[in-house]
Amino acid sequence: MGTRRLICPVCGKEYDKPVQRCECGEPVEFEPFKGEPYIARTVWERFYDFWPVEPETELSLGEGDTPLVKSKIGAELGVKLYLKNETANPTWSFKDRGTFLAVSYAVKAGYKAVGTVSTGNMAASVAAYASRFGLDAKILVSESASDEKLKAVSVYGGDVIRVRGDYGRLYFESLRLGERLGVYFVNSDNPFRIEGYKGIAFEIAEEVSPDYVLIPTSSGGLFRGIAKGFIELRESGLIEELPTLIAVQAEGCSPICRAFSEEMDRIERFENPHTIAKAIANPYPPSGDAVLKLLRKFGWLCATVSDEEILKAQRELAREGLFVQPASATGVAALKKLTESGVIPEGSKVVSILTGSGLKTLSHAECGEITECALENLEKCLR
Ligand SMILES: *Cc1c(COP(=O)(O)O)cnc(C)c1O
Repeated sequence: MGTRRLICPVCGKEYDKPVQRCECGEPVEFEPFKGEPYIARTVWERFYDFWPVEPETELSLGEGDTPLVKSKIGAELGVKLYLKNETANPTWSFKDRGTFLAVSYAVKAGYKAVGTVSTGNMAASVAAYASRFGLDAKILVSESASDEKLKAVSVYGGDVIRVRGDYGRLYFESLRLGERLGVYFVNSDNPFRIEGYKGIAFEIAEEVSPDYVLIPTSSGGLFRGIAKGFIELRESGLIEELPTLIAVQAEGCSPICRAFSEEMDRIERFENPHTIAKAIANPYPPSGDAVLKLLRKFGWLCATVSDEEILKAQRELAREGLFVQPASATGVAALKKLTESGVIPEGSKVVSILTGSGLKTLSHAECGEITECALENLEKCLR
């Protein structure tokens, strides 16, 4: 906004004080605006007051402001289904929203390096934004991470370090050592990361008022971020009612849903986890207890789906033009069960979060058939 002087449009005399008419008797007006206009375009600008740190918008890669797509799958199930397509983010998952805000903090706080503990989407996201912000990256990956999978991480530069030992302990060790060595670790439920995820709730609320939101859940960071976003919108009077949030987990690794349905006080480690949905396979989620508390406080829900149901949903989404990874198809898989059992009533407005791209997990994809054809037979092949 800035302060602006008054000028007389007739004689041109300028005033610093708030006069109403010029000494020459004519009216005065404010001098015209010059310079860079501030027009709120991105989610970082439109919801400026909601962030705990100034977003470094100059260094944004265009994370957030993802499409909300109407899905045909909804009509088959008797509900209105919208898909929040987070695969449209710069490194193809919602992780970029949180990484961007956390790295914005890290540069302001004077850190020269950032890090994370991940083998998949978060590793790629932190590596990408570290490069973008001119910081070193320390990416700690598990012993089992394959070279193939790490290509999408190491391509951005930074140090990719395969750590032998207990992966669960690595989360806490990274925070401890990071503090000592001046590396800001942006792990799965880092507080700035959670704040960045609020943008998903803000953008949804700009377009629809959902009755239900389906959220693939592993560490619980995404769930907490979306919940916090909707809660803050309600506190500030921008929405009237909270949607019912549904944490969705894979049957083969569902520590939060198990603790919820068995009315345990705290989550417990899920032994022998196995699921095709690797991106949501944290057996001992660091935000599990926090998610459990939210579910109980607001009467929200937790649902599990099998690998078979996940793959089916993945295929159906692809048939609609959206190729997501198995973890990201869990929401739609759960919707089927929850509409059939009547938990989600007919006519409901539902949003499912498509968390990450299928191109990251090509080896799991169930693909269509490929026809071989000689050029001479092309006409026959095309019929
Ligand atoms: C990280 C991730 C999730 C789960 O998010 P959490 O914050 O760990 O609960 C779900 N889907 C995809 C594709 C992810 O990368």
